[in-house]
Parts: sequence; structure tokens; C-alpha cells
Amino acid sequence: MKIIYTDVLIIGGGLAGLRVATGVRERGNDAVVLTLVPPKRSHSAAAQGGMQASLANCKMGEGDNEDVHFSDTIKGSDWGADQIVARMFTHCAPKAIRELAHWGVPWSRVRRGDHTSIINAKKVTISEKDEAHGLITARDFGGTKKWRTCYTSDGTGHSMLYAMDNKAHEDNVEIHERLEAISLIHENGRCCGAIARNLMSGELVAYVAKATTIATGGYGRIYSVSTNAIICQGIGQAIALETGVATLGNMEAIQFHPTAIVPVGILTTEGCRGDGGLLLDKDGYRFMPDYEPDKKELASRDVVSRRMTEHMRKGKGVKSRYGDHLWLDITILGREHIEKNLREVKEICENFLGIDPAVDWIPVRPTQHYSMGGIRTKYTGESQTLKGLYSCGEAACWDMHGFNRLGGNSVSETVVSGMLVAEYISDFLDSDESDITIDTKNVEKFLKIEQDKIDTLLSKENGEDAYELRRRMEEIMMEKVGIFRNGNDLQDAVTELEELLKRSKNIEVFRSKSRASNPALENAYRTQKMIKIALTVAYGALLRTESRGAHSREDYPKRDDANWLKRTIMSWGDESDTMPTVSYEEIDISTMELPPGFRGYGKDLTQHHDNTKVRQEVVDKMKEELESKGANRFEIQNELMPFLDKLPKKYRGRNERFGEI
Ligand SMILES: Cc1cc2nc3c(=O)[nH]c(=O)nc-3n(C[C@H](O)[C@H](O)[C@H](O)COP(=O)(O)OP(=O)(O)OC[C@H]3O[C@@H](n4cnc5c(N)ncnc54)[C@H](O)[C@@H]3O)c2cc1C
Repeated sequence: MKIIYTDVLIIGGGLAGLRVATGVRERGNDAVVLTLVPPKRSHSAAAQGGMQASLANCKMGEGDNEDVHFSDTIKGSDWGADQIVARMFTHCAPKAIRELAHWGVPWSRVRRGDHTSIINAKKVTISEKDEAHGLITARDFGGTKKWRTCYTSDGTGHSMLYAMDNKAHEDNVEIHERLEAISLIHENGRCCGAIARNLMSGELVAYVAKATTIATGGYGRIYSVSTNAIICQGIGQAIALETGVATLGNMEAIQFHPTAIVPVGILTTEGCRGDGGLLLDKDGYRFMPDYEPDKKELASRDVVSRRMTEHMRKGKGVKSRYGDHLWLDITILGREHIEKNLREVKEICENFLGIDPAVDWIPVRPTQHYSMGGIRTKYTGESQTLKGLYSCGEAACWDMHGFNRLGGNSVSETVVSGMLVAEYISDFLDSDESDITIDTKNVEKFLKIEQDKIDTLLSKENGEDAYELRRRMEEIMMEKVGIFRNGNDLQDAVTELEELLKRSKNIEVFRSKSRASNPALENAYRTQKMIKIALTVAYGALLRTESRGAHSREDYPKRDDANWLKRTIMSWGDESDTMPTVSYEEIDISTMELPPGFRGYGKDLTQHHDNTKVRQEVVDKMKEELESKGANRFEIQNELMPFLDKLPKKYRGRNERFGEI
């Protein structure tokens, strides 16, 4: 039996996991990172368009600050987000981006003088100030009032991840590659580490830790077509769920990105539209201004994806043997711009479509992209119900995205939440509360449970084919739990997924019975976990009889604040259960800085909560009084919804901007 002891175990070597590792190391703690792939191959490397931080350096970002970023984020979330968390995030994003610059991320910079940009299909000359020359610049993105998305060409995730990984090595973080966490060790409501499987040798290893962080990314691969890497399977969420103690939040909140290429589903960044690209239909007609006259192609992602689907349903899609699609036209930006700022998009078009996007239109269709739901945490990143378990990045429901994430807010979340959670974990480790005493016999018990499961899988005969079950699960999710949802389809999805889960208890490993380096074995034990995650998504979506953000019910088109201003919380009662257990967490309007309102897209169908009006009146009155006394924006914000006391002291300071006192 192999047991490895450490202060902090971090499951996941993407941006979020590495940022936590660096942070806890800097506070003098030991950290071990487990990862399926070398960290630089984590899915974060695929992020293209950029990272949101309200620096306000470039001309089109002028006037931006934390307040504007906060308001965009809350509106984007359709008021589903935790406003305290969103405030903590927007306050820290400028700090995180500057830290990354210091660690070597070559952010694209402002260049003094005139440059041309395409805005609303027209060439516009923009003049950058002399004094801004050399500072980090930003591009436009969907659902934002200012140009706030900072970037390194369209390889932002790549350069962030390389810098983060180098930093982790510099800080002597121990990285255990090709080690997959397959269950958590826990007793009496306390998480004590994880059981991991060496993907090369098949050996099981127990990691015992005072604090365990799950930073395993999203669960997009429960859908048949996704922009996510194939390792984004939701195993991190599943092992938390399987404790029966930790909970998942808002699993039904799934984002579809408007512009994945057809048929493979690889993303072309929102930066394409941010930089001026257009969406066209089969007649070459630009349709988005008809639906969203104000934001057009740059409405929030959920909105654009729905409008595109609506337009294709009207028969305006381009027919292809892979189904209908629309066109993304970036030819308008010119070859020089594409080769400089959208070079990954160019390579994707060349390699996967055989086209040149400087000349040809790109075939695109909305595709599964992001998981707003995840392991439900407190603002500290700790599970609300399992002590010593933390989560951050896309794996978590921290919950700054609510029911729709803004483009550029995710890589930003990974480094901001990683930076903060590392401090909260370190504080926890500094306290007596973090002490654990776990009998090695109990650790052995957890190892044995996993060993027995693998032995059963390998010895099973005449069982089910995991690949078949998984393929069917992916199809169900795509067809019945997609962009537009309805009660009948969702009920069918839940019924069939439950059936698949029952069948998954009888999986046989076909092809190879090897314990080492065996993808068929990995698929066999992951499939059941993935079906459980799919069930939490489909069941949550079935029960939520309203439309909010990316969760759009055709049979319940209104956002129903009166009944549904709450988070869906899922747990898994017992190993023998075939359905998750559901409860809800109320979102309190009476403490909101920005009470629920109209998001600004289409018709306002909101059914308001009784407390909304009351809170709005309180907020308006407080603002008026404070303004009349000459209070500045920080003082006003602090009166409306204090949050600074929740932040680690070293991150409380104000951000500096041009012209801001
Ligand atoms: C194509 C694409 C482009 C995107 N572009 C942008 C963008 O421009 N801006 C933006 O803000 N967001 C973007 N996003 C979203 C963003 O990239 C992700 O949300 C973010 O990078 C997730 O980072 P993470 O650290 O949480 O997880 P990941 O980067 O997914 O890392 C997960 C880690 O967990 C490990 N892991 C998983 N399961 C296990 C296990 N069981 N045991 C051990 N290790 C495990 C993996 O090996 C990996 O190291 C994009 C997403 C996609 C799909």
C-alpha cells in the first residue's frame, strides 16, 4: 500500500490548480498536484480570446472599473451569481493579471497613436494616448460595456498556462502526472485526501492531506459535441458527489458557445466577433442586428446561441451533410489582423476545414462549451458540507457566473479564485482546525473499495459495453438537454439516463483486461461517474421551470424570480441510489448591491420577486444620500454591500488606473 502525505493535495494541473499550488507554497506549505496530463496540456491551454480585468488602459476601455465589470458579470449571470463573490472577483482581477505579467505572460500592449478597428461592420480609427503606450491592452467581448478582455493574440490560455506552470516549478510544487483521482478519502464530515490511480502502471495510491482542492475543470464531455478537451469529463465533480457529503451547485447551467466549427466542434474565439467579425446566414445576410439591435453579434453568449438556433429553425441555416450551420465572416478584418491577433483561429480553419479565413467564411454552430455548475463552495472555496475539501476554477460553483458566464471571465476566475483560495487554505492550515488524525486502516479501507471496483470490472463477463452507454448518454444530453429545453424531452432524458446508470453497474471491460495503460478500463470506471453527472444536469434542468441565462425552457420562457431565485443543490445519498437528491439554496435579494432587473435582451419576461422593488428603493435611497454627502464610488459600494473584509488583507488595496484618484 502506498500512502503519500502532504499539506495540500490539488487535483488538477490547469490554471486554477497551479495557481492554488503556487499560493500555498508561497505560504510555506507542501503541495502535490495530481494531473491526468502534463500541466501544460491541460484544457486551459485551449483558451483563446482573453481574460477580463478592468484595467481601462486602451481608449475603448476608458471609464471601465470594478463597478462596470461587476454590473456586466451580474447581468450576464441573469442574477444567478453570488454578488459578494462577483465583487471579490472583479476587485482582484486587475491584481491577478499584473501578477501574470510579472510571471512572464506577454500580454498584447497598447501602442500610441492611431489604429483602425472594425466596429459594427465599419472601419473606425481609434487614437491611443501617449501615456498608455506599452500598457496591457484589451479587446471587445460579448456582454461587456467596455473593451476589457486582455489577450495574447488568440493564444491567451496557452501563454497563461505556460507562465503558471513555470512558476509552479520555480516554487518547487510537486507535480504527479498521469495520476487520476478516483475517489475522496473522508470520515466524519472531514475530507482527508484522495485515492488516485496511476494511469501508466495501474497502481492505486492514497494521498492523505490536510486540505484537498478539486480543480479538475468542466464536464463538457458528457455532451457528444463540445469545445472542451476530451479530459473534461466531470470526474472531479463526480468524486465529490460520490462522497454523499459534498454537494454540487447549479449543474443544469450549461453554456453553448455560438461559434464552434462544423462538424468537429472546435472553437473559434469570441474574439473573432469582438474584433469585428459578423454572423451571416445562408443568403449571406447579417441577421443578428434584427434580433439584438443594440449588442448584435456581441450580445451575451447564451443570447447569441439562441438567436442563431432560432434563425436556423426558420430555415435560414446553410444545409450540410453534418446538419445546418451559419457563417462566421472574419474576412472583413483583413489578413494582417487575422495573422496577428487571430492566428490560432487561422490554423484551426486551415487544419480542420481546409479553408483560409482571410478569404473564406467559417461554418459555425452553437456547441456545448462551459459548465457554470460545479462543486458548491463558500466564498473561501471550501465545500459547504465537507470540511477540508476545496474547489476552484471551472470545477467549482463558487458562484460568480450564475446561469451564464461572460467570455473572458473564466480564465480570469481560475487565477483569481486560485490566488484567493490558496490564502484561505493557508489560513486554515495555520489553525488547529486543520489537524487530521486518520487511521491507516481507514485509508486502506478506501483503497480497498477502489481496488475491489476495478477487480469487479476486470472480472465481469457478459456485461455492458461502457462505450455504448457513454455514446448514448452523450446523444441524450445533446438532443434533449441542449440550448432550448422542454419538459417532455427533459423527462425522457432523465428516465433514460437513470436506466443507463442502472446498466452501468454491470459494465464489462472489453478488448483488454490489462491493469496498466488501459484506456478501456479507464472508460469503464469513468462512464458511471459521467452518467451520474449527466443526471444531475438533466434532472436539475427538468425541475427548474423557468428560463434563466443559458437554461432556456421553451415551456417556461419567463425568468421567474418569484419562485426560482435560488441555486440547485445536488447530492448523492447512497451508492445504491439511481437518482441524485435535490435541495435549493435561496439567493437573498435583501443584501444585493444590484437587485434583479432587465438584462437588456429581447422582451423583458421577468416575473419579479416581491422583495426586488423594496431592495431597489433601499439601494436608490442609499446612493442618493451618499452622493449628496460627496461619497466616492468606493464608499458608496461599501455601504451597499461590504465585501473587502472577506478578502485576504494583502488583496484589499485599490487598483490603480489612469485618471482615477
Ligand atoms: C476552446 C475553449 C476556449 C476558451 N477560451 C476562453 C477564453 O478565451 N477566455 C476565458 O476566460 N475562458 C475561456 N475558456 C474557458 C476556460 O479555458 C476554462 O474554463 C478554464 O481554462 C478552466 O481551467 P481549470 O484550471 O479550471 O481547468 P482545466 O484547465 O480544465 O484543468 C483541469 C485539470 O484537471 C486535471 N484532471 C481532471 N480530472 C482529473 C482527475 N480525476 N485526477 C487528476 N487530475 C484531473 C487535468 O489533467 C487538468 O490538469 C475556453 C474554453 C474552451 C473550451
